[in-house]
Amino acid sequence: MADLVVVMGLGHLVGADGNEWYNFWSGLGADVGQVALFGAAIGLYRKHNCHVHRCWRIAKQQVEGTTWMVCHKHHPDGKPTEAHMTALAEKKRAADAGSSVTLTD
Ligand SMILES: [Zn+2]
Repeated sequence: MADLVVVMGLGHLVGADGNEWYNFWSGLGADVGQVALFGAAIGLYRKHNCHVHRCWRIAKQQVEGTTWMVCHKHHPDGKPTEAHMTALAEKKRAADAGSSVTLTD
């Protein structure tokens, strides 16, 4: 009788009692889900990282005249400064004023 208990115990250890297979497959299924999630994360990362080849930084700035998004290191103007913003805002304001003048004329 004691031997039978040991054998059953061994069967459980090596996964021969049926339940282990279920756990094995469902565990694998969960892993596949994680791989898909990991793949999606990589896809998302590739979509948002710098356009420059092999650059791992997250792209936040668009290169003027293109649809390319690059990181602050690879942007031709570098990281925008406050002066840069002011200059752009003034340029935009002047352009808007200029177009309204031409419209009223
Ligand atoms: Zn970059």
